[in-house]
Amino acid sequence: MALAFDEYGRPFIIIKEQEQKSRLRGLDAQKANINAGKAVARILRTSLGPKGMDKMLQSPDGDVTITNDGATILEQMDVDNQIAKLMVELSRSQDYEIGDGTTGVVVMAGALLEQAEKLLERGIHPVRVAEGYEMASRIAVEHLEHIAQKFDFNVTNIEPLVQTCMTTLSSKIVNRCKQTLAEIAVKAVLAVADLERKDVNLDLIKVEGKVGGKLEDTELVYGIIVDKDMSHPQMPKRIEDAKIAILTCPFEPPKPKTKHKVDIDTVEKFQTLRQQELKYFDDMVQKCKDVGATLVICQWGFDDEANHLLMHRNLPAVRWVGGVELELIAIATGGRIVPRFQELTPEKLGRAGLVREKSFGTTKDRMLYIEQCANSRAVTIFIRGGNKMMIEETKRSLHDALCVARNLIRNNSIVYGGGSAEISCSIAVDAAAYRYPGVEQYAIRSFSEALDSIPMALAENSGLQPIETLSAVKLQQIKENTPFCGIDCNDVGTNNMQEQNVFETLIGKQQQILLATQVVKMILKIDDVISPSEY
Ligand code: ADP
Ligand code: MG
Repeated sequence: MALAFDEYGRPFIIIKEQEQKSRLRGLDAQKANINAGKAVARILRTSLGPKGMDKMLQSPDGDVTITNDGATILEQMDVDNQIAKLMVELSRSQDYEIGDGTTGVVVMAGALLEQAEKLLERGIHPVRVAEGYEMASRIAVEHLEHIAQKFDFNVTNIEPLVQTCMTTLSSKIVNRCKQTLAEIAVKAVLAVADLERKDVNLDLIKVEGKVGGKLEDTELVYGIIVDKDMSHPQMPKRIEDAKIAILTCPFEPPKPKTKHKVDIDTVEKFQTLRQQELKYFDDMVQKCKDVGATLVICQWGFDDEANHLLMHRNLPAVRWVGGVELELIAIATGGRIVPRFQELTPEKLGRAGLVREKSFGTTKDRMLYIEQCANSRAVTIFIRGGNKMMIEETKRSLHDALCVARNLIRNNSIVYGGGSAEISCSIAVDAAAYRYPGVEQYAIRSFSEALDSIPMALAENSGLQPIETLSAVKLQQIKENTPFCGIDCNDVGTNNMQEQNVFETLIGKQQQILLATQVVKMILKIDDVISPSEY
């Protein structure tokens, strides 16, 4: 420490060790990093599995989120540590690629870090640990292919797909109606899927929510929902085989501009003007009828008199529809947006098999359903729920389910869940360890132990004795060679995941192991942490 003076004679202190203090090197750096990673994993560990806990997160402006989704928890958590941020990224990349398994991947990475710490303490070089992990992960991924099963489904028999989505949903807050939601998710995915190319464009599935009603009322609409109603309460609420005119021009007589002057000094003149205005609008309605429109969707409004006339002439209309929705309707119904009234022709009309208005609750809450559209495979999942938080969480859970269904269409291999795949891999990796003569052997064996932490966490979260349960299942797997025995989280009475119908996708599980290994290797190779010095 030294005392110095600046040009104004004010004293200040120079701390010589300052640079060293904000810098960690060697084993200290690795240990600090491992601890940071473990801390994040510990938070998520209790959320894993069907009996996992949920987290409540409050944002700086007071919004509350309740969720069970690993990626969302980490996204909303305000982490400061750089290594912790890597774990957040890890969860995000699993979410991005696969959609499900975001909690499991972090728990797995945490377990690998924990094992690595023990190895480092025994004096094994971090690079050797990293290499051992790499070998072990390859063994595990290969073994997964070995125990994976093809599973057949087709458009008429969707039950297997529904079962897999139900596994995903069973760990979420919405598990009360997982059957309904899983069926909706599968039907939605199949509606937009291209089974020949084995591809699904999830953008075509629109997820909408409205507060009110029950979660059970959530429905799949083959078409589009618009938050608008018919302009007149006496207009028909249901139009079959609708031919829709989509207008972005005003649907009313032109107003006199300020520059023009209309002198009305007699009753007759006023009557004429009125008649003319009426006729003008009548002509417009007639024109719509002539081209064959049975419904008018208008971006602009029209006044009450016009509204009355429309009702009278039996031409249902919807007014004040937003531009985005108008575009969606145009795409789905194969219609054209008509910007000038004169341009309205029969070819420009959109077609929909059914347009209906549906009302909700006791309020005047109505929505317009446009279904059986001509052109598009677009579907909407319409979520109902008691409050906004519930709807948001349902959206996230459905996202996971949609992703799982999509992954299965891309690749229909599955492995069994409930930790059974991990236990089986653990046995395989452990058995393979003897084939490696070097120090890596220890790392490979540690990897096998880390794999056990997923079933352990599942057991712990379900209130079972973790070690006893795990060793019993493991023994059973080794004795009977049954890679589908896992943790009976829901206390069904059997730990045969085949019977319980608990599957996960093969690619999802492989991705979890690969991603977790990559991140842990990266963390282990950092031996110098240089942060900007603080003032
Ligand atoms: P993630 O975000 O990783 O998907 P989840 O909370 O969804 O985390 O938990 C997934 C884990 O729970 C998987 O290992 C899965 O096999 C297991 N699991 C899900 N449903 C069941 C069940 N009914 N019985 C046993 N395990 C289950
Ligand atoms: Mg899940």
